[in-house]
Amino acid sequence: MGLFSFFKKDKVKEEKVEEVKEESHIEINRENCKACERCVAVCPNNSFIIKDGNSSLKDGYICRDCKVCVAACPNECINFVSF
Ligand code: SF4
Ligand code: SF4
Repeated sequence: MGLFSFFKKDKVKEEKVEEVKEESHIEINRENCKACERCVAVCPNNSFIIKDGNSSLKDGYICRDCKVCVAACPNECINFVSF
């Protein structure tokens, strides 16, 4: 005993308050949407739904701006609205 000391390191817990964006800052050009469902498949937050033959954003959808949906859409239907 005493030869080795064990230091308790204070673990600093960084509580990151993630900014959850539920604003409607994505626009879908529904006229050009062919309901291919690629946006539905790729969104990590499962924010899209096909409704009435077009893609729509779910109520209270969560978006973290990854823009994967923008890249996935073959018809360039998805755009970010700039404020
Ligand atoms: S930007 Fe990313 S998180 Fe936001 S709707 Fe598109 S795929 Fe989903
Ligand atoms: S990827 Fe584009 S064309 Fe396909 S369903 Fe989504 S918005 Fe419509």
